[in-house]
Amino acid sequence: MMQPKPKTPLLLFNTETRQIETIAPFDQNCFRLYTCGPTIYDFAHIGNFRTYVFEDLLRRTLRFFGYRVIQTMNITDVDDKTIRGAIQKKCSLNEYTEPFRKAFFEDLGTLHIERAEHCPAATDYIPEMIHLIETLIAKGCAYKSQNGSIYFKIKSFPSYGRLSHLHLDELLVNASGENEADEYDKENIADFVLWKAYDPSRDGSIFWESPFGPGRPGWHIECSAMAMKLLGETIDIHCGGVDNIFPHHENEIAQSESYSGHRFVRHWVHVEHLIVDHKKMSKSLNNFYTLRDLLNRGYTGAQVRYLLLSTHYRMQLNFTLRGLDAAKASLQRLEDLIIRLQEIDTNGSGDGIGELLSSADKGFCQALIDDMNISAALAVLFDLVRELNTLSDANCLSQSDAQKALALLKKWDEVLGVLPFDQEETISHELQALLQRREEARQTKNYPLSDQLRKEILERGYLIEDTSSGARLKKKR
Ligand code: AMP
Ligand code: ZN
Repeated sequence: MMQPKPKTPLLLFNTETRQIETIAPFDQNCFRLYTCGPTIYDFAHIGNFRTYVFEDLLRRTLRFFGYRVIQTMNITDVDDKTIRGAIQKKCSLNEYTEPFRKAFFEDLGTLHIERAEHCPAATDYIPEMIHLIETLIAKGCAYKSQNGSIYFKIKSFPSYGRLSHLHLDELLVNASGENEADEYDKENIADFVLWKAYDPSRDGSIFWESPFGPGRPGWHIECSAMAMKLLGETIDIHCGGVDNIFPHHENEIAQSESYSGHRFVRHWVHVEHLIVDHKKMSKSLNNFYTLRDLLNRGYTGAQVRYLLLSTHYRMQLNFTLRGLDAAKASLQRLEDLIIRLQEIDTNGSGDGIGELLSSADKGFCQALIDDMNISAALAVLFDLVRELNTLSDANCLSQSDAQKALALLKKWDEVLGVLPFDQEETISHELQALLQRREEARQTKNYPLSDQLRKEILERGYLIEDTSSGARLKKKR
C-alpha cells in the first residue's frame, strides 16, 4: 500500500510557548481552526478586519500546502452593547443585530475573505452554554453570587495565566469584569462571569431561562461552547487579535479545560493591532475607519486587503491613507503585469523562464512556511514582477512563457486573494461585449452611440485604452 505523501511542515509562532513551532493537525490532514468573530452591534472597523484578513491568509496557506481546514468563526449577537442597542431602538435583539450581520458578511466578501465552514450565532447555542456552566458548577469550578450571576473560580484552575504569562497577583490588578455592577459580588476580583443574572433595568425583556435563573451567557463561555460543539474538545489552532489574549482566551482555556479535562487548544496565534498614531484602532477611541468609509473614498476591497495583509501578523501596522495609496500602487503594478502577460502572443518554446519561475515559487513557499513571512513572500513576488517586465521590455517572453508566469501568479493568488484573475473572468464577458459594440459604433461613425457606450463602460469602473492592437479595457484607479 502507498504511504500518504507527507505534508509540508509549517512553522508558526505559538503565543503560549512564545516559540516558533511546527504545526501539524491532530487528525493528520485537517486543521480545526477557531477564530473569534465580531460582536454585531455596529459595523466592524478595518482594525478588526486586519485580524480577519490574517486568519483568511492562514486558512488559505494551510490549504495551499494541501491540508483541509474546518474553521469556525462565531458571531456574538448578545452582549451589553447589542442589548443596549435593541432597547434603544425598541426592537428585538435579532432585528437590531441582523443588519450588522449582513453588513459583516458583505464586508468579508469585499475583502475576499473566505467564509468559514461554521459561522454560529451565540444565541443559537445557549443550551450548550448552559450545559457547560452546569458542569463547571458540579465540578466546583463555578459558583453563584448573591445577585444570581455565575462566576468561574479561577483559583480552581492552577495554570490560569499560562497563555498570557501573567501571575495571579498581576491578574488581580489587570482584571476587569464584564459587568462592573457585579464586581463586589465575586469571591475573587479576577473571577469572571459565566452567566449574567437578568436585570430588567439593563436588559429590558431580553433574557433566557436556565437552571440557575433567568439571564444570559457571558462573552467568554460563548466561544468555548461553540468551539467545542463544532470542532471538538481539542482544536488545532485558535486565533484572535492580541487584545484577546487576556482575559478572553485565558478564560476560554480555564473554562474549557475544567469542563473537558484535557487540552483545549494546541496552538495559539494572535495578530498584532492595526494602530493609528500609536494607538489601537478602536471604536472607543473613535479613531477608526470602517471598510465602507474607505470604499466611499474610492478604494477597492482588494486594495484594503492588500494593505492589511502586507505587514507580518506579529508586527503592528500603522494605518494611514498614504499607506493605502502605496498598497494601491503596488496592486496596480501587479495588475499591469497581468494584462501585459495576457497580451503576449509571440511564439516560442517556453523553456526560457522555467528556472526563474521555479526558483521564485520555492522562495514564495519557503517564506509562507516560515511563520507566514508575508513580507518575504511579497519581496519574491515583486522581484519576479521586475524580472518579467524586463524580459517583456526586451521582447524575450513567448506566449507560452507568459502563460506559465500567469499560472504561477494565479497559484500564489490562492493565498493572497488580491489579483484580478477571477473578477476579470466574470465581468469581462459583459464588458467585452460593450467594448465591441462601441468599436462597431465607431466604425459606422455612430458617435452618439459610441459615446454612450464609453460612458457605460466608465460607469462600470473601466477606461478604454486605444492600443496598436485595438481598444482594450483598463480598470479605473
Ligand atoms: P471585537 O469585536 O472587539 O471583539 O474584535 C473582533 C476581533 O478583532 C478580535 O479578534 C480583536 O482582537 C480584533 N481587533 C480589534 N481591534 C483590532 C485592531 N485595532 N487591530 C487588529 N485586530 C483588532
Ligand atoms: Zn472568542
